Amino acid sequence: MRTRTSAAPAHSGHLPEPIGWEQRPCIDTGDELWFGPGDGADRESLKESRRRVELAKRTCAECPLALRRYCLEQALQFPADEQYGVCGGLDSHERRALINAGVRSISEIGPAAAA
Ligand code: SF4
Repeated sequence: MRTRTSAAPAHSGHLPEPIGWEQRPCIDTGDELWFGPGDGADRESLKESRRRVELAKRTCAECPLALRRYCLEQALQFPADEQYGVCGGLDSHERRALINAGVRSISEIGPAAAA
């Protein structure tokens, strides 16, 4: 459900929200940081995209571990809803690689997941 219409990253709400979910650092950041320029906006260059994604990932790095793990868990369990943008500290390509490798839960990638 990571659509452009969401006010902030995350999330489809398939899993029960963890305590403190409303304190995630992305909650008031808007969509552009996570998804890029909206419809009708100038496309961003590759360099701008990389810079934006790194900034989003740095924001995720400031997210409490329990929230970050929940965020990534949702994305792995419900990839059709979380196809785009940065989520749980990983960009869509990184998540897709995990999913293509058969990973469906952070428990499958060890304690370092979303660390
Ligand atoms: S890990 Fe990133 S996208 Fe997920 S809730 Fe935290 S800040 Fe938001």
